[in-house]
Amino acid sequence: MRIALLTRNANLYSHQRLIEAAEARGHEIDAIDTLKVYINIASHRPEMRYKGDILEGYDAVIPRIGASITSFGTAVLRQFEVQGVYPVNESVAITRSRDKLRSFQLLSRRGLGLPLTAFAHGTSEADDVIDMVGGTPVVIKLLEGTQGVGVVLADTKDAARSMIQAFGKLKANILVQEYIKEAKAQDIRCLVVGGKVIASMMRKGAEGEFRSNLHRGGSSKTVKITPEERSTAVRAARVMGLNVAGVDMLRSNHGPVIMEVNSSPGLEGIEKATNIDVAGKIIEFIEANARPHRTKTRGKG
Ligand code: ADP
Repeated sequence: MRIALLTRNANLYSHQRLIEAAEARGHEIDAIDTLKVYINIASHRPEMRYKGDILEGYDAVIPRIGASITSFGTAVLRQFEVQGVYPVNESVAITRSRDKLRSFQLLSRRGLGLPLTAFAHGTSEADDVIDMVGGTPVVIKLLEGTQGVGVVLADTKDAARSMIQAFGKLKANILVQEYIKEAKAQDIRCLVVGGKVIASMMRKGAEGEFRSNLHRGGSSKTVKITPEERSTAVRAARVMGLNVAGVDMLRSNHGPVIMEVNSSPGLEGIEKATNIDVAGKIIEFIEANARPHRTKTRGKG
């Protein structure tokens, strides 16, 4: 098959692994810098170009679209979809998962476990918002944050109120969440591919840090997940419409609660923690689901 890998940086571990895994299985894979694709959509035969060449003839596309380029990246992906190229994750699903409020609304509607969460714009009712999630301590999150940046823990009502007001001054959209203390600064990342959890790891925050992000100095190890955690991860990916997803959960007293469903999960942490060939599983998923492109040389009749 011919596979397009949409990425800003083909040298990253995850992308190198996807390239290796595809080539090892006999496929041709091209890394395409998402921001360097240009599209002519104002004609009856829309065309995508890259470095002067026409992009066509791909069977599948693996979108690895960073949060900062979601809008342009999903537009490029959509153009591949229009051409009938099989997307590992569809553009609509990626857009959906990038909107934290929309994701939470969808997940809660399907009865999936979430921390008690309130969201607000503006600050006039800060105390009531804090009460809505059961009082302090609370975790306050900037909606635009990634990798744990803009996630703060407020122990007292005074601290929480000041933070909500400070974010309000900056006109930032925030989430206010109950603090899941019993998770002990650990979270679980399940890698879901094609409706199955194929690998899971537990991440632990660095000393004195309640956030378990690996980018914040956290460490990871393999973990045996419960059947409830497995089904939560699979259902979360399905609700978001993602074939490949990294589902982050905390172990709370009221069962697994979802933190985030990530449409471009990193492979380095999970492959190294578990020794599972996640990249290979993604390529095998493509093999099972993408229909090889038909050439234009079919005979009549
Ligand atoms: P990001 O998307 O920026 O990684 P998250 O919402 O996933 O932000 O939060 C980062 C980390 O902070 C989580 O992985 C978790 O370890 C910790 N954390 C976030 N929310 C809570 C919470 N409500 N209770 C306890 N820990 C939390």
